[in-house]
Amino acid sequence: MAGKARSGGGKVRLPKKNKFGFYEIRMESIGGLGANVAGKILAEAVVFGMGLNASAFSSYGSEKKGTPVKAFVRIASPRTKIRINSPIEEPHVLAIFHESMVKTLPVTAGLPPDGTVILNTKKSPDEARDYMKIASGTVGTIDATDIAIETKSRVNMVMLGAIVRASGFINLDAVKESVREAFEAKYPAAMPGNLKALERGFNEVQFKTFKDDGKYEPVPFERTLPQLGYENAPIGGTIYTVGNTALKDMSASRTGFIPVFIKDKCVRCGECDIYCPDYCFVWEKGIDPKTGKEGMILLGIDYQYCKGCLRCTKACRFGALVPGKESDYNIDEIIVKHKFAR
Ligand code: SF4
Ligand code: SF4
Repeated sequence: MAGKARSGGGKVRLPKKNKFGFYEIRMESIGGLGANVAGKILAEAVVFGMGLNASAFSSYGSEKKGTPVKAFVRIASPRTKIRINSPIEEPHVLAIFHESMVKTLPVTAGLPPDGTVILNTKKSPDEARDYMKIASGTVGTIDATDIAIETKSRVNMVMLGAIVRASGFINLDAVKESVREAFEAKYPAAMPGNLKALERGFNEVQFKTFKDDGKYEPVPFERTLPQLGYENAPIGGTIYTVGNTALKDMSASRTGFIPVFIKDKCVRCGECDIYCPDYCFVWEKGIDPKTGKEGMILLGIDYQYCKGCLRCTKACRFGALVPGKESDYNIDEIIVKHKFAR
């Protein structure tokens, strides 16, 4: 994308460039958190608001919502043409939209020694460095989920603000203008919240720079190749690894809310279990303390499989399942594990 700056643009120097002359940003996200839109807004801001060149694109699987998404933004000076459209492997700024992704995916791979990684988390930069095992570079932390809830916006706006701050050269006003262009006509009521979230991301992100002290090894970028292809896939797509979904972790699909189980109110009707698409409810044979009768007792929720759709909270007519802010709870304390996963 190349274009004429809305407000004259002016001369902007990129603080860092790779060998092709690009400043690169990679966003690691979950479908539904808005990384794709954030990438487009950022590229439009630097092109139309700052007179630079930029490209933005995303990669995601067939089931977009709830599955991993990568958004890429390349920025170059007005004289450098962007002819490369491959994924960004070694980004100057890496933004991780959901901290649970770190547990299950190689999202920090390819971060250069002097790169910046921003994590959506309540952790401090020191805690986040240890959590992500970052060898060196700058670690930024921001509680984007809570800010998004408080401002009635979305995680992408908060992360966008934090990315702008990390870059040191992207103009916040230009990004605000792009946010207005993207949403003002279609969702005017969402505008104040979006702009507030953007500003809070910019102002509240915390950074700390770490030298390579040998604590962790750098993780090089590796392309994930499919394990099965036309030469080695089993005939008819047969699955040989029985029960492999027991290993799945859906935590990263949640967007800040969980169902909270209030055991005292549960009448063991089982409606929640019918509605839940992911087999999250853990039952055990036992005696109901209220009736003294033997039957299946609902023990709680195995949050490893819960994607936070909150369907169960609507299904429960007895107030035994209510929506709660995930950050208000310690999942490790309230999780009830299925026997097969213990
Ligand atoms: S729907 Fe509500 S009352 Fe019924 S089993 Fe589930 S939690 Fe208990
Ligand atoms: S929110 Fe409820 S219905 Fe949805 S996955 Fe979690 S436990 Fe199941």
